[in-house]
Amino acid sequence: MHNADAILYFLTDNHGLISCRARKGYKSLRRFFNVFEMGNLCEIDYSFRRALTYYHLDEVNVLQRTEFPLDFLKLFLLHFICELSLWFSRPGLPDVNLFNLTKDTLAELSGLQVHQWRRFLLEFVLRIFCEEGLLHPPYRCSRCKANTLEKSGDVFIRFPDVVLCSRCGKTSGFLRLVVQPVTSDVPDISVWLSLLSDDYVSVFINHVAGVLESEGIRSAGVLRNVLIKA
Ligand SMILES: [Zn+2]
Repeated sequence: MHNADAILYFLTDNHGLISCRARKGYKSLRRFFNVFEMGNLCEIDYSFRRALTYYHLDEVNVLQRTEFPLDFLKLFLLHFICELSLWFSRPGLPDVNLFNLTKDTLAELSGLQVHQWRRFLLEFVLRIFCEEGLLHPPYRCSRCKANTLEKSGDVFIRFPDVVLCSRCGKTSGFLRLVVQPVTSDVPDISVWLSLLSDDYVSVFINHVAGVLESEGIRSAGVLRNVLIKA
């Protein structure tokens, strides 16, 4: 294990998703120590070597660290944000908007008040849908004009441009996005995406269901409750 090469994934502004091999990365803890922490803002030098699938990681400079020791809620949010961003990223395809959204969201995370976490997570998911062109900027309920994020925890979406608050949205044909805590001994949170209409199955198989259901969120444990509920 300690002699194994580490594969590290970087979301970049100008080159999309970059996969790098850090030679004997698990042994070079002193050299790459900070990089192994998810969510850090880094400056990297990497090079291409023939016959390798991955880029070679030459140097890393951590510009901003993201760490929440023993704060399980923020760790959950950190992992969720990073994994959803990586899922939407594409190798070699620049996506400055996705990069900036992820960077800004992670920067806001350190100052986040505990009681705002549902709104914070909902806003991130809605914004990433917008950045990917699935949804037009949506934060007001299309029916009652209330700010859907104010009510937090329950939003109904009909792509590409209808968003309803929890009070107006109890109709069929919508995607229901629910963010709620689960009561248990271990800090645990579930994010439900309920498919109320078959219309959205193909959209979500292509864009979201893969990471949430087929492949599963890799940082299992606290994320095990991220599910698609049909
Ligand atoms: Zn409404």
